[in-house]
Amino acid sequence: MKQVGKRTKKVGPTRGLGSRYGTTVRKRYIKIVEVLKKLHECPQCGLQRVKRISVGLWKCRKCGFTFTGGAYTPTTKLGIVAKRAAKETLREEKKKNK
Ligand SMILES: [Zn+2]
Repeated sequence: MKQVGKRTKKVGPTRGLGSRYGTTVRKRYIKIVEVLKKLHECPQCGLQRVKRISVGLWKCRKCGFTFTGGAYTPTTKLGIVAKRAAKETLREEKKKNK
């Protein structure tokens, strides 16, 4: 008897994507999701309590400070990179969907 396809499946945020978009895009997507889920530093009280409440809208759970920032991260260097990567990802997905 032959064993067929008993590889362990990687689970994570990209589970639903399958192999549709290729590894590069998937890796980038994981990075963005990780950044999204992380708590960010509040520009007012400096604590890492900032959560994204909507696209581009951030709120500090500690002091209640609400501010607008990037769609995926508040304005940090990492945020700029993630934003760019997200844009590229979207562009690539659009291309492949056509
Ligand atoms: Zn705060």
